[in-house]
Amino acid sequence: MPPAIPPGLLPRDGRFGSGPSKIRQEQLDELASSPLLGTSHRQAPVRALVAQIRSGLVDLFGAPSGWEVLLGNGGATAFWDAALFGLVERRSAHLVFGEFSSKFAEASTAAPHLDDPHVVTGEPGTVPALQPTGADAICLTHNETSTGAALDLSAARSAGDGLVLVDATSAAGAMPVPLDQVDVYYFSPQKALGSEGGLWLALCSPRAVARIESLRRSRWSPGFLDLGAALDNSRLDQTLNTPAISTLVLIGSQLRWMLDRGGLEWAAARSAESSSMVYRWAERSDWASPFVRDPRHRSPVVATVDLEGVDAAEVCAALRANGVVDTEPYRKLGRNQVRIATFPSVEPDDVGRLLTCIDWVVEHLA
Ligand SMILES: *Cc1c(COP(=O)(O)O)cnc(C)c1O
Repeated sequence: MPPAIPPGLLPRDGRFGSGPSKIRQEQLDELASSPLLGTSHRQAPVRALVAQIRSGLVDLFGAPSGWEVLLGNGGATAFWDAALFGLVERRSAHLVFGEFSSKFAEASTAAPHLDDPHVVTGEPGTVPALQPTGADAICLTHNETSTGAALDLSAARSAGDGLVLVDATSAAGAMPVPLDQVDVYYFSPQKALGSEGGLWLALCSPRAVARIESLRRSRWSPGFLDLGAALDNSRLDQTLNTPAISTLVLIGSQLRWMLDRGGLEWAAARSAESSSMVYRWAERSDWASPFVRDPRHRSPVVATVDLEGVDAAEVCAALRANGVVDTEPYRKLGRNQVRIATFPSVEPDDVGRLLTCIDWVVEHLA
């Protein structure tokens, strides 16, 4: 029997998963009373919500005029395949430093209509340096959710003249982003945006939109992955096929919550406050240490902490038995580790309580 943590120590909300991640109760209340569920996505009320999401994202990220927000079904994984038809002209380059960045590189390698990609790989827990490349699409990951390593995008254009495509699935809405260094900033909404999976959203620069327009004329694409069709539909505040309305309601609610409180700067500061607490705690501990050695690469949204002489799986199981869930490490990383998401929806006070609970569990397992 795992030990019962004294209730007074427990976080008020026990969800610390890196995706799907915590959805705030206020969002769920809004969802429960939404008049939109069970109504047509082709009619004005849902289209108005999509319009609100598209303009809310432009506001949140401070996207310059000319940028467009595209959306479609299938999540970031589907967007990788769509990009191989609609954004990569001949050859992509990839910075691979974890599971998600490696999947996109693999998809590009397998695509018969493209040249083999230029791939730079770093050890899990590190971030490899950007290298100049002649590729027409430079594929980066803002935050490697599998390892808790974050990439500094401030010099992304030093990698070449290609379009810079950034997978921001766990970063979007929780990390500042220099959009002048980026052409496509795409993500699924079940992480920092506190929504559900199954959808992708992409902020696209005018250069990226021009690439989509040019490739739609010169190359066949499966309809579901056709970014030209996504562009047409998005401009009408629609999607190619039926989206989950609940996902849209949850995103709308989260965007309003963030924008009302100070936008991206506020949200990013809140995540940074929470993750700093985790890293400081790990550095002070005798049996815990931050997995990412270089403090500059430590993620502000997904804090990974190695344990030594303490079985992380036992700690996670004891937490789970007490209603504190999803602190397990990324399954394929295979480390003796806890992984704590510090997305804006997670209360910094709850992160403090989680750390107290981990200390308590370690003491009582022994
Ligand atoms: C979660 C995640 C994905 C995969 O998202 P899906 O919605 O499951 O396709 C891709 N990239 C990153 C960085 C992620 O964190």
